[in-house]
Amino acid sequence: MRGWPVVDSIQFARQHGDVHRPVGIAELARLASMVSPAEAVFDVRLQGFEDSEGRPCLRLRVSGQVPLVCQRCLEPLTLEIAADRRFVIAHREQDLPDLSDEDDDIESLLADGNLNALALVEDEILLQIPMAPMHEEGTCTPPGLATDRRSAGSVFGVLGTLLNTKD
Ligand SMILES: [Zn+2]
Repeated sequence: MRGWPVVDSIQFARQHGDVHRPVGIAELARLASMVSPAEAVFDVRLQGFEDSEGRPCLRLRVSGQVPLVCQRCLEPLTLEIAADRRFVIAHREQDLPDLSDEDDDIESLLADGNLNALALVEDEILLQIPMAPMHEEGTCTPPGLATDRRSAGSVFGVLGTLLNTKD
């Protein structure tokens, strides 16, 4: 078996691989570029198994906190992540099972002899981050609201002065 985070997905499933380790945000380049400050550690567990039909499967659990910035007040916002997803692995694209009737937490995955487990972990985390993360409605206000009104007022003040000079 190859070294973490690169695993042979089918082999990992068949051999009932079980990796449980912390993953620092620094290991997740796409995510690290999105959050600030870039400090967070996720609890990650990847397990291989076979389902009742004998198909090779992976179960990935990721939990932790993502440091984000609230898009309303621009103050820090901590998002709790708790993902628990199962993947059914198929050798060929045409063999990928139709899982549309199944639970949302079950997905199909193409067999990959060099699966980067960290990319799976990162996808799980990115999926849970909203487009515009915000504190709960009514718990914060935009920082520049009062200032903006004042400056808007002063713009009209300047306009008024300009109009007055024309007279
Ligand atoms: Zn906020």
